[in-house]
Amino acid sequence: MNRAEQTAQLQKAIRELASERDAIIMAHYYTRKEIQEIADFIGDSLALARQAAKTEAKVIVMCGVHFMAETCALLSPDKVVLCPDTEAGCSLADSCRAADLKRWRKENPDAMVVSYVNTTAEVKALTDVVVTSGNALKIVSQLPNDRPIIFGPDCNLGAYVSKMTGRDMLLWPGGCHVHERFSVEQIVKMKSAHPEAKVLVHPECRSEVVEIADVVGSTAVLLDYAAKSDEKEFIVCTEAGILHEMQRLCPDKLFIPVPTDDGEGCNECEYMKMNTLEKVLSCLQTMQPQVKVDESIAEAARKPIDRMLEFS
Ligand code: 13P
Ligand code: SF4
Repeated sequence: MNRAEQTAQLQKAIRELASERDAIIMAHYYTRKEIQEIADFIGDSLALARQAAKTEAKVIVMCGVHFMAETCALLSPDKVVLCPDTEAGCSLADSCRAADLKRWRKENPDAMVVSYVNTTAEVKALTDVVVTSGNALKIVSQLPNDRPIIFGPDCNLGAYVSKMTGRDMLLWPGGCHVHERFSVEQIVKMKSAHPEAKVLVHPECRSEVVEIADVVGSTAVLLDYAAKSDEKEFIVCTEAGILHEMQRLCPDKLFIPVPTDDGEGCNECEYMKMNTLEKVLSCLQTMQPQVKVDESIAEAARKPIDRMLEFS
């Protein structure tokens, strides 16, 4: 059997088992294309959170990274949440430890804590409101003007939100190792080869990269722009997995991934790529590994996510 036949066989087995188990397969846009192909729902982190809150399936298979499975477990505590590989972490979530955030809160007792969804449940439990890259501007601009804001852990998203809303914020010094690798030099090089192309940038990129973008937004915002615009060429400055859905939605348009600043290949999140068809099938067979959030922090961690869903 060749590779394509093996893939098709695995996909068929997963789909059959998912319906037997009453499972919904959810996937982030950065996962491998063969996983996106079998997902019931693909989305950015905001859409995935919304879907987790409303799904009626008994089982959620979250193909993404660990904090996304945790968010599902918080929003759907009565469901079984399966995570194909619990080692699939996130450099941003890792950059903010709850003990350090606790210290910042103590040093800034009046501040509201706004945390990006890319955080652990422990950090969310110390947070006033969670945001995603899809709703951060909208939420921060609604916060009371007389309260200082601690924004974490992504300092690039924080700087962008601060600039756009005019809110001065205390920024946590965290970043995504994938998005921080994009450089202005690479984009300029691509732009000279494709002068007509629009530059689409995720706000986790460094501020000098965000500044030269035509469109800045979450994965869903970038996709939506590409699908609705009359433009035909796009330089895509985010994780390369999104190209699959872009190309699927717009087969006649050209999407050009930005390579790493050392020029080797395109940017990929190795954590997202830890999700494989074999692991998805195995977790449905064994109903393991399950992600659960300890009840001692679950209530506190759920509140700022619920607040986010109310705000946006
Ligand atoms: P989105 O909210 O745009 O899906 O981004 C999530 C993420 O992890 C980006 O690196
Ligand atoms: Fe985390 Fe960056 Fe991977 Fe997104 S791309 S999951 S922020 S490490």
